Amino acid sequence: MATTGSPTFPEVGGHAALDLVDTVHWRLDPRRSIDTLGTFDDVVAWCDQMGVLPGSAEQVTRLAASAPEAAAREHAAVLALREAVYQAVFESSAAAADHVAAEHVAALGRATFERDADQVSWSWRLPADLSGPRSAVALLAHSLLTSDLAAARQCGDDACGWVYLDTSPRHNRVWCTAAGCGNRNRVARHQAKRRTARPDGARPA
Ligand SMILES: [Zn+2]
Repeated sequence: MATTGSPTFPEVGGHAALDLVDTVHWRLDPRRSIDTLGTFDDVVAWCDQMGVLPGSAEQVTRLAASAPEAAAREHAAVLALREAVYQAVFESSAAAADHVAAEHVAALGRATFERDADQVSWSWRLPADLSGPRSAVALLAHSLLTSDLAAARQCGDDACGWVYLDTSPRHNRVWCTAAGCGNRNRVARHQAKRRTARPDGARPA
């Protein structure tokens, strides 16, 4: 797929692994559900936007063009990791957590431990090949699952399904975005109230 300009993926999660889950729109309504990571190139673009892509997007998409079957496998693996994050965090699935752990170990197996340019620390360097996006996502997923998940929430909308860390001062964030689901649900509630109020509120003849 040719990309015209870089697509903008939502960043409302407060953690990149939750932003990854949010690449599915209307997750809770199968009839409306949209997966914005439709191709391997979309996954590359997402990693690039999040600043976690090993190597350049051009380099990795060029590799994908020359090995479409391998790219398709990597694409499927990233989507499986995304669903495992969702199931581990929001459905407490031990099998999903195991999947993330196995992908994390495999990612480190492909990586090298190298001295940083600042010469004061060391870090894992992921290979800039087709496995790069999957490895980057595995590291993000592992970092989320090993962090404090007490603030992990799902949007209060019936269909939206976006997830986020509620870091609001009173821990009372209900919506993914106030302007999107928050506003739409407020308007819907207001209209429903007016509808039910109308018979009672009718002017006396
Ligand atoms: Zn929402």
